[in-house]
Formats: sequence, C-alpha cells, structure tokens
Amino acid sequence: MDILRTKNEVKSALDILRKSQKTIGFVPTMGALHQGHLSLVKNAKLSSEVVIVSIFVNPTQFNNKEDFEKYPITLEEDLKLLEENGVDFVFLPSVSEMYPAETLLKMDFGDLDKTLEGAFRPGHFNGVGVVVSKLLNIVKPSKAYFGQKDLQQVAIIKRLVSDLSFDVEIITVPTVRENDGLAMSSRNIRLSKEDRLTATILYKCMLFAKDELLAGEDWFEIREKITKRFHDEPQARLEYFELVHTDTLIKLKGIKNQKKVSICTAAYIGEVRLIDNLEII
Ligand code: AMP
Repeated sequence: MDILRTKNEVKSALDILRKSQKTIGFVPTMGALHQGHLSLVKNAKLSSEVVIVSIFVNPTQFNNKEDFEKYPITLEEDLKLLEENGVDFVFLPSVSEMYPAETLLKMDFGDLDKTLEGAFRPGHFNGVGVVVSKLLNIVKPSKAYFGQKDLQQVAIIKRLVSDLSFDVEIITVPTVRENDGLAMSSRNIRLSKEDRLTATILYKCMLFAKDELLAGEDWFEIREKITKRFHDEPQARLEYFELVHTDTLIKLKGIKNQKKVSICTAAYIGEVRLIDNLEII
C-alpha cells in the first residue's frame, strides 16, 4: 500500500494505471475508520481494479469549531486496517495541499442544502461540495463510493457530479450498524459509556416510526411520541426527525402514494451530534 501526500504524487501513481485502462475506485473519508468505512472499501475492491482511499479532515465542512478540534484522529490504526483490506493507495493530503489559497467559490444546491443537515449546519454542504470536487479532480476515479449513512450528502454529491459533468459513477453503500442498531460513526468514539447506551435511541425511534407508519398511523402523531421519548431522555436532545422523499429530501406528511421514503434524524447525545436515516419504502 502506497501513501501519497501530494496531488503530484497521486497523478504520478494513477496516470499510468489509467493509461492501461484500469478502473480506479475511490473512497473519500475523514479517518477514524470503522466497519462502515471498510464496507465502502470492500465494495470498491469488488467493482474496481485499483482502490484509493483518502483521509482528510476537511476544515471547511465544519461549522462548529469544537466539533472540528475534537474530531477523532487514529491514523496508525487506519493505515493498518486499510492495508489489511487490500487498499492500493492512501491519499493523505495536508490542509495547505488541498487549500493552497482560500476558496472563493460558493456552492448552492438549491432546496437540497437548505433542509435537514443544511438547515442545522450552515455552510456544511458548501464545504463538502468543494472538497469532493477537488478530490474527484485530483484522483479522477472511475467510481467513487459513499455511505447511505449520510443520505443528504449522497443526494448532494450526485447532483454535483451531474451538474458539473464529473466523469465518475457514484456508488452508494448501505449503512453498517453496531449489534444494537447504532449506526457506526467516527464520532461514536467520543460517547461516554452511558451515552453510548443512550445513543441507540435514534435507531429505536426510527424503527418504531417505521412500524407505526406502515401500520397506517398519522406521521405527526408518531413524531409527537418520538419528541416526547427524546424529551424523557436527559442526555439526548433531538434536532430533527423528518419524513422525506429519499432522493429530493422534500419533507412529507405521510407515506400514502409515495414510492421512495426515508426518515432522517439528528440528535445530540451528551456532547456528540449524531445523524442517522432509515428507508421506509
Ligand atoms: P466520514 O469519514 O464520516 O466522512 O465518512 C466517509 C464515508 O464513509 C462517507 O461516504 C460516509 O457516508 C461513509 N460512512 C460513514 N459511516 C458509515 C456507516 N456506518 N455505514 C456505511 N458508510 C458509512
């Protein structure tokens, strides 16, 4: 496994492979790797001949300074896991390599970035859009792999790729969960022992809501019950719990006559903000 730190190193390593028609699979990450990330890597290994993973904690997508400063870094373990999983290249750029100058460009994804995460984390998807564009331009992969865990991010990246004609196929990989249902996330490391138990509330509430919806219950009544459940949990603070169209993220009032529906939620568990989503139909 080769470690590449600059754009030029990526170019030298990959140009020759592209010339010999190898398909290049790319998995962008912010590190502190877990089985969710490794599932993306395994998918990439199955459908691409060469796999490159990037680890870059992108400062411009953090709207909260403390969240950025406390973002877990476990580089040594990450590299070991990637090597064990047969990754060919790891791209580890510095902030100055990615941002040699301030980015003046601002990305606006219309309705897609005004809702859910976009509403609670102003500027987040501008940062994501810019860094993913830069990474795609540097790596020039045939396929790039993203987790369903970040449903809104997937919708935005698909739109970015289509609007700017990036020559890459975006592959979405299902969310990997712990045994008790908590979606794997790098931020889970920051949960205290008690908060780790409390954190299952997100998945439990989505499952409850799904069952109720499919049984024909009213969405707003379901949501009231969920809000109360969060209210009764002192360490949990719900930010949103929404029923949306899976692709457009337009908020829905029910599932009747709908073909693709998901629940999206975000909540603080102690000091840690977690997000999750569940497909209903
Ligand atoms: P991150 O390092 O959190 O920026 O995530 C890098 C990629 O891994 C993104 O495409 C995420 O959606 C994906 N990812 C994170 N957690 C999971 C998970 N539990 N299951 C599947 N994919 C995930």
